[in-house]
Parts: sequence; structure tokens; C-alpha cells
Amino acid sequence: MQNVLLAKYGEIALRGKNRHLIENALLKTIEKNLATIGEYSVSKEQGRVLIECKKGEFDYDRAIPLVVNILGITAVCKAIKLENSDIENIKNMAVYHMKKNCQDKPYSFKVETKRSDKKYPMDSREISYEVGGYVLDSLDNLTVDVHNPDVVLMVEIRNYVYIYSKLIKGFGGLPVGTSGKATVLLSGGIDSPVASFMMAKRGVSIEAIYFNSPPYTSDRAKQKVIDLAEQLSKYVGNIKLYIVPFTKTQLEIYNSVPQEKMTIFLKRAMFMLAEKVALKSGSNALVTGDSIGQVASQTMQAIEAVNSAVKTLPVFRPLCSMDKQEIIDIARKIGTFDISIRPYEDCCTIFVAKHPETKPKRSIIEKMEKNIENLDKLIDDAIENMEILEF
Ligand code: ATP
Ligand code: MG
Repeated sequence: MQNVLLAKYGEIALRGKNRHLIENALLKTIEKNLATIGEYSVSKEQGRVLIECKKGEFDYDRAIPLVVNILGITAVCKAIKLENSDIENIKNMAVYHMKKNCQDKPYSFKVETKRSDKKYPMDSREISYEVGGYVLDSLDNLTVDVHNPDVVLMVEIRNYVYIYSKLIKGFGGLPVGTSGKATVLLSGGIDSPVASFMMAKRGVSIEAIYFNSPPYTSDRAKQKVIDLAEQLSKYVGNIKLYIVPFTKTQLEIYNSVPQEKMTIFLKRAMFMLAEKVALKSGSNALVTGDSIGQVASQTMQAIEAVNSAVKTLPVFRPLCSMDKQEIIDIARKIGTFDISIRPYEDCCTIFVAKHPETKPKRSIIEKMEKNIENLDKLIDDAIENMEILEF
């Protein structure tokens, strides 16, 4: 008998030929994460990932967070692995497991068996019945409830036999790096880090662009974005962060367009620049943290007027239908919320219109944009002078 961790993954199983690539990506990330705390071996075990400790005791407290938070993992469970798959051994070890984990009060339970080794001499129903009856007879505090049990005692017959009873849920999704790459417009707010996470959850690698306008925005605002990228990288893997010097472009726009339309033109310039960077780095899409109707620049009309600045790439807005509270809940889960709400004082709010237009017309905006002198050149210069950080 050996203490192990089993990791489950979901949709990957459906993905035909790509399955191996995706499984291997998962294995590699688990291996890399666990190498920081000890010697663990990570292998495939018929639709599960089996994690074993090669030296000393399995350090579940440290290992579980390093595995369960990897995107693509639906759940992990502390299990015991049996080399001897004899039914008598399974019965005894099931009692051992329940004694150890469910002794403190009365519990109702049932046994569920998964048998992927079809050569095993009993079928799953027979195994559940035998094991359940034996456990029930052996321990006084248990009753059987097949409909709504407190505990589901799992028996999985694979290359080896596994017994466990508790699932620790993960985020699900697909492993990062298996679905192409996107360039996120990352501000210091609550939304865009969550948008980055949502894309990564579908397997997309992330790079990020922050538009910095010193001295109108402070160093602390920039530091916030750096800290956000670093925190995000714990979930989404390596992140390249481009910090764009945006002051000149912003001032030119400020001097060329009516105040109430300024945000629309700023956003368009951000999009134009982001698309150029994205195309150059082989990204497949742009991503923003827009949520429909959240602020003036995120009405449907504003989104239409801004979006036409992008010529080629799709723009994803994974938060478009979410309420603020739903977004905040995710931000807390992934540890970006506390960074996003850090206060910082920008020295000046000249770029914030008092009465921003909520229903700009795309055709008018597109025409007016011609009044901004040298916009293309300003954008190219800004790209030229980007600072690039990697996490
Ligand atoms: P967030 O909480 O992400 O800051 P927000 O609700 O404050 O969003 P806006 O400021 O209107 O909304 O920005 C909408 C989106 O535009 C952001 O989610 C982000 O993707 C992008 N964005 C805005 N400002 C910047 C910036 N300075 N640098 C990079 N992206 C930005
Ligand atoms: Mg913002």
C-alpha cells in the first residue's frame, strides 16, 4: 500500500489525436511544480495522472495546491494505491481508509467502483457490493445510503487499484499552451487579469500589454500591473509583459478630439498598437476585460466604435456577460483582487472625460480619427520604445 495523489482531467479525454499532446503538457507542468518541493514521479494511469513520492513521506499539504490549481485539472484526490488487487485486500484496505478518514462521527456512505481493467474477475457492481458490505460490518459508525451519502468511497481498478473518498476540485479547462496564444490588454483594474485567466483556462497562452502614461499615471500604477502579471503567471504560465510608453499618443489624441469622445479614440489607439504587437509575436487574438454596460466605454455602441480599429485579429471579451460580483469572485480565487484594489494616485485626471459619450457612432468616429496627426507614427514609436518583462 502506498499513499499517492490521483489527478483527474476532463475534456482532454475527448480530444482524439491531440490527446497525447495535451496529456503530456499536463504531466510536464505537474512535474515542474512538484520538483520545487521534493522527488515525485508523475505518470499516466489510464485517464488519470498518478503522482507518487519517490523519497520520504508524501507531503500532501504542499503538493496539492501545486497540482490542483493547474489549468486542465478537474480534481485531485488523496488515494491509496494497492499493488495486490485481490478482492480480500481491497476490502481490508477499504476499511483501513474509512477508519482513517471517517471515524469522528456517524457517516452514511456508499461504494462506487470504476473498473477500467476489464479482465478483473468481478464487475463493478459486484465489487461495490462486496466492499460495501464488508466495510459496513467492520465499522460501527457507518450506515449505507445509496442516494445521498455523506461519503462516496471510490474503488478504481486500473493498472493498480486505488481507494479514495474525497475530491478536491480544480478549475477544469485545458492545459495552457494547447490552444494558441492571445495578447491581453492588461490594465491595473480588476477585470483584465480575470479576462486573462479565463482565456488561459481554455488552454490559451497569454502575453500582456500595458499602456503607461507617465507622469499622468504613477509608478505605483505600473508596479500594480507588474505584480498582477507575476501573480497571473502562477496560473497561466510564462507571461511576457509589454509596457508601452503611451504619453505622447495620449496627449496628441487629447489635443485633437472632443473631450466626450476621447476614451473611444484612446481605446482605438490601444487596439491598433496591440494588434501590431500581437501579429508580430504570432498571437492569434486580442483580449480585453470589457463587460457590457459596466462603464460608458463598454456600451454596445462604444464597443462597436472601438472594435473597428482592429483590422485582422479576433477580439475576445471573456467577461462580456458577467456581473461585477462574478468577476470579483474569480479575482479573489486567483489572488489578483487584492493587487487590483490597491489605491494609487495618478497625478492628474485630464484624460477622464466628465461626460463621456455612451452612444458614439462608429462612422463618425472613423472619420474624426483622420484629424489625429501622425497617429501611425506615434504608435510605431511607442512600439519601438516598449519595455519588455517576462514572468
Ligand atoms: P479593468 O478593471 O480591467 O481595468 P475597467 O473596468 O477599468 O477594466 P476600462 O478602463 O474601460 O475598464 O478598460 C476596459 C479594458 O480596456 C480593460 O479591461 C483592459 O483590457 C483595457 N485597458 C484599459 N486601460 C488599459 C491600459 N492602460 N493598459 C492596457 N489595457 C487597458
Ligand atoms: Mg481599468
